[in-house]
Amino acid sequence: MHLFCHDHPETLGVETQAVEFQPGRIALAQSPFYPGGGGQLADQGVVRWSGGEAKVVGFEVAGGKVWHLLDTEAEIAGAVEALVDPEFRRKMRQLHTGTHILNAYVFQSFDGALVTGVQMAADGTARMDFDVPGADNDRLRALEGPINDAIRQNIPVNFAYIGMSVAQAEHGLIRSRSVAPPPTPDGKVRIVEIMGLDRQACGGTHLTSTGDSPPLRILKIENKGRHNRRVRLGLAENP
Ligand SMILES: [Zn+2]
Repeated sequence: MHLFCHDHPETLGVETQAVEFQPGRIALAQSPFYPGGGGQLADQGVVRWSGGEAKVVGFEVAGGKVWHLLDTEAEIAGAVEALVDPEFRRKMRQLHTGTHILNAYVFQSFDGALVTGVQMAADGTARMDFDVPGADNDRLRALEGPINDAIRQNIPVNFAYIGMSVAQAEHGLIRSRSVAPPPTPDGKVRIVEIMGLDRQACGGTHLTSTGDSPPLRILKIENKGRHNRRVRLGLAENP
């Protein structure tokens, strides 16, 4: 699914129209919200219309349509202003970009190890599970240095759409089934590239440059069975 926020991650407010309304939910002609998925939490924010304002409390994606779930059943029609909470989005973009940087170094240092799960949290932390049989946890912990070097180097982050069959043929591009986005209706997949460091299929929102993130800390490493390691990382609150 191709979302407005994929191409315009900096546009957090749009003036648009209600295209369909049901009590407690609305579909919009254009929406700046990320509805969640791939381990990234859905955006928070509000919609405003001539009759008032409602909090967006969740999303439901069905039949190519994004329903915005609201904290009111008041009827909404006509012009709507849709506004994403900027702080929350910024934190998710930082955290999400951080998971790519961690992923890049694990992929490089542990023989192309794959991600088996990822989940970001509202408190600015995330967990990533990797399939790294017999990994030395100290080696994983030591990735904190290179991760913060990559943030300091302020590396540009770009994206492009390529054909699904081309993507599947490039080793390492589909890093995990659980985080790879579904292809667009014309069979393309979105590739996010931290220039010179990492390139992978992803449908979330990211920074446009790594330097827009505070430093990251590796908080904890847990063994999840013989194969999997769970790495917890977090944005340093007071860099
Ligand atoms: Zn991503």
